[in-house]
Amino acid sequence: MSATTLKLNTGATMPLIGLGTWKSKPGEVQAAVECAIDVGYRHIDCAFIYLNEQEVGAGIEAKIKENKVKREDLFIVSKLWCTDHEPKDVRPALMKSLSNLKLDYLDIYLMHSPIGFVNNGNLMPRDEEGNYICNDVDYVDTYKAMEKLVDEGLVKSIGVSNFNEYQINRILKECKVVPANNQVELHPYLVQKDLVDVCQKNEITLTAYSPLGSPDRPWDTSKDPVLMKDPSVVNIAEKHGKSPAQVLIRFNIQRGINVIPKSVTPSRIKSNFEVMTFELDQADMKTLLSLGRNFRFCGAQEVKHKYYSFRENYSE
Ligand code: NAP
Repeated sequence: MSATTLKLNTGATMPLIGLGTWKSKPGEVQAAVECAIDVGYRHIDCAFIYLNEQEVGAGIEAKIKENKVKREDLFIVSKLWCTDHEPKDVRPALMKSLSNLKLDYLDIYLMHSPIGFVNNGNLMPRDEEGNYICNDVDYVDTYKAMEKLVDEGLVKSIGVSNFNEYQINRILKECKVVPANNQVELHPYLVQKDLVDVCQKNEITLTAYSPLGSPDRPWDTSKDPVLMKDPSVVNIAEKHGKSPAQVLIRFNIQRGINVIPKSVTPSRIKSNFEVMTFELDQADMKTLLSLGRNFRFCGAQEVKHKYYSFRENYSE
């Protein structure tokens, strides 16, 4: 029916659907990764800060040893954490992720955020008042250090995450390697048309995080809207005989965007992948796009930083 991969500007292909692993606990994430590979996922979204890369790596290793997949069949993503933005810290940070994941290369390494934190041994460094202790290292300098990882063959490609249009344009202007991907929050409540246009025009693929509305996010308040229960999403799901999650995953795919739903529940891991046999029609897409309200489930509003990318009218 439709393609199951997106072509990167490096020529490589990236599977449209990946398994998200944020909040997947050690003790459950290995089984989730193994289940995902068994049902056909070939793209796993990881990050150093999820503190579960070792278990993700054990799941990958088990499936390779079983001959279920080869390393080259998989597309493994990890992310440089905010405390490692100093150029000298970039390579050691990647080496830690590679060692955790038991891999000798990543398919893509993303800068998790344009924001840097001081590197004082604490991954979420805060002062006595509870404010994050930031580091003003320029994300362009961090990115230039990431470019060297491509030259070394340690990563097949590099990209960014949580970058806005201004920041993407700076990278395009000041760096050598065009990012292969920008991973950002995308779903019907946050459609980010301008950002999607800028990235797609420059051959930067997008990956949609929190595509289901991240119902297990730690800061959830009962006041927030619940995306999977939105009446329009539920109606469209009923019309197609699909689940709200499947509709939300299709929504991104039909915009030409990768999508990385997280689950540790085998039946959901399977059904989230079964989205290639139906299509949302134009009216469905129009309805879903009309739900846009600039609402972020992962807004990180408590971070005060000059590179905080979700500000209105951002400039530097
Ligand atoms: P999400 O994928 O939108 O939602 C995950 C939640 O939905 C979990 O509670 C999961 O429950 C539940 N769920 C999954 N499939 C379901 C289904 N079919 N029906 C009902 N509930 C379902 O949230 P997310 O984890 O925030 O985002 C996905 C991934 O994006 C992350 O895991 C991470 O890899 C990535 N991410 C990246 C960033 C970044 O800054 N780059 C930020 C946020 C997320 P169970 O697990 O209990 O099944």
